[in-house]
Amino acid sequence: MTTVQDSVTSGERHVGDAPMLIAGEWAEAADGQWIDVESPRDKAVVGRVPRAGAEDVNRAVEAAARAFPGWRDLRPRDRGDLFRRIADALEPEQERIARLLSLENGNALRTQSRGETQFVVDCFRYFAGVAGEAKGESIPLDPTVLDYSRREPLGVVGAIVPWNAPLMLSALKIAPALVSGNTLVLKLAEDAPLAALAVARICQRFLPEGVLNVLTGYGAEAGEALTAHPRIAKLSFTGSTAVGRRVMAKGAERIVPVSLELGGKSPQIVFPDADEDWVVDGTIAGMRFFRQGQSCTAGSRLFLHESVFDSFVGKLVDKLSALTVGDPLDEASDMGTIVNGRQFDRVCDYISEGMEQSGVEVALGGLPPTDGPLAQGYYVRPTVFARVANDWRIASEEIFGPVVCAIPWKDEQDVVRMANDTHFGLAGFVWTHDLGAGLRTAHALEAGWVQVNQGGGQVLGQSYGGFKQSGIGREFSLEGMLDSYTQRKHVSVSLGR
Ligand code: NAD
Repeated sequence: MTTVQDSVTSGERHVGDAPMLIAGEWAEAADGQWIDVESPRDKAVVGRVPRAGAEDVNRAVEAAARAFPGWRDLRPRDRGDLFRRIADALEPEQERIARLLSLENGNALRTQSRGETQFVVDCFRYFAGVAGEAKGESIPLDPTVLDYSRREPLGVVGAIVPWNAPLMLSALKIAPALVSGNTLVLKLAEDAPLAALAVARICQRFLPEGVLNVLTGYGAEAGEALTAHPRIAKLSFTGSTAVGRRVMAKGAERIVPVSLELGGKSPQIVFPDADEDWVVDGTIAGMRFFRQGQSCTAGSRLFLHESVFDSFVGKLVDKLSALTVGDPLDEASDMGTIVNGRQFDRVCDYISEGMEQSGVEVALGGLPPTDGPLAQGYYVRPTVFARVANDWRIASEEIFGPVVCAIPWKDEQDVVRMANDTHFGLAGFVWTHDLGAGLRTAHALEAGWVQVNQGGGQVLGQSYGGFKQSGIGREFSLEGMLDSYTQRKHVSVSLGR
């Protein structure tokens, strides 16, 4: 078997077979089946990963269970040190891994994949730094009693991630779960497993056998087997709300704690005093256009005050028209591709439906070209639908593509009502010079993360997660690590005779 993960160079376009990690070894699936990984840039098969089934899941969970006592009993700061060393080893490999990521999931190298790979290094260092912070408390009950709490790891964590930011989301499971003393079985998304396997390969140089196990396979096979496994003590899932609901039901069968990071349809509210270029740039970033809108926090409902509606849409169209959609590996590309054919068809269906709505203005974009270089891959141009009603399907369902719906508003209370009229509650963005209006609106939005006058990505140390059907639990922070990956135990000791 070609273990190509170590040998991918910047020029390579085919990476061969990439085995998965079980019990410290690089393994094929027990039944020998493989999944082809297609690059969305040109639809070429760029590698294969094992198609894990229940037997592989069982092997991985058993290995993690065997590794748990030794790993749990390691001094927390020693666990942190290992992650510091992993981060150091990753740093010189960043460019190679970033290219692999762009190759497999179509995100542009310059605007996305390099930053995502840097995030992994930062994330490992952040959690290495807080490794000793899983502290308990003592309670002043009585001079003759010592009553204190400990934070203990849960055991074997089963984690599942999607394809849209596979490195960032894998790092956000691996680091907090392991630093706090759990062992882990991580299932990667079938569409983008290669870069995360490359990171796992570096982790494995430092971690004891079985502490980290990384599986590749389909959700209906490996994913289902993992969520049903009786030795899993905690489930941590990032993906769609539909699958999250299923994961939660599986956890409920065995009363296993579940963390969910799910979908969104986040609002961006532009006040009449914010019809300015920097705000347009901010809303483009907030809509995650540079990631083709394939982000859970994409601000895809753009509420523009009626008095500046046409002017703002005009500026938005000018700026989006200047973006280069192209080969994700090309330094000139601002935007790459949609991840796969299924997702591409889904996005196109939403675009077709939007174009047919009565009263809609297609301010920019539309269906992708059917010939020319962009037709060779899953490229979709930025699309702006204007004068959209908040209850249309394109404004209420998560499209997960570069499609923004501009919706007019007149009254502050009314726009907040529209913004909150969704079962999602992940993120929100408010754009105004009026501090009072900005903060009033931020507080009124039913979302786990609201930004005022900025449209950036999550930052380590924030307590990030969703309200409503966008999720349960928090990631990105020490607090998230403690809540998601430790459990409290109280010890009560009588000091009297
Ligand atoms: P998905 O839910 O289809 O798949 C996510 C993962 O779950 C994949 O690894 C898949 O193989 C697995 N899976 C599928 N069916 C399963 C099952 N029955 N049991 C167990 N596992 C199963 O989502 P996707 O299309 O890969 O990703 C896009 C979705 O992820 C969007 O809804 C997006 O908003 C969400 N997302 C959320 C966050 C967040 O932080 N809240 C971050 C990124 C993506």
